[in-house]
Amino acid sequence: MSGTAKVQVRASHGGHGVFTLEPLAGGQRILQFVGPLCDRHAVMRAAGAGAGDGFLQIARDSFYALSGGPDDFVNHSCAPNAYVRFDQDGVFLVARAAIAAGEELYFDYGVTQIEFPFRFDCLCGAAECRGPIGNCDELPAATLATYRAAGMVPAYIEEELRRLGR
Ligand SMILES: [Zn+2]
Repeated sequence: MSGTAKVQVRASHGGHGVFTLEPLAGGQRILQFVGPLCDRHAVMRAAGAGAGDGFLQIARDSFYALSGGPDDFVNHSCAPNAYVRFDQDGVFLVARAAIAAGEELYFDYGVTQIEFPFRFDCLCGAAECRGPIGNCDELPAATLATYRAAGMVPAYIEEELRRLGR
């Protein structure tokens, strides 16, 4: 995969996480999210069976299911060092700013989610940790403003937030 970074999946927080093996610059692509496309019904079924955390929302009613690659293992943080960017040629994890080799990579799950049928309680330990993580409309105003200023909010999320008057 051209233009992405060397990463490693290893133990983190009692599960797995993705770590960069090389220093990254802000704006640099780290990995591509892939995986079989599925619709909301498939995600609802999986969530009902207790397996709702394996999906990345990529549009209002479209999701990537598990790919079997490192993109399955990127953890959430309420103070993330990376974000999900929707480029012409794919969906990528991108560094927010410089990241040192060896660091774990995170994005904020709330920024990609609309009516996502699965919530979890975050234990990231950041000062701004929100606790329960849900959907884009639950982002605190200050967090949303920061993410918008950095260009981290996907177009389909902006559309939803406009609809909700935010
Ligand atoms: Zn948190």
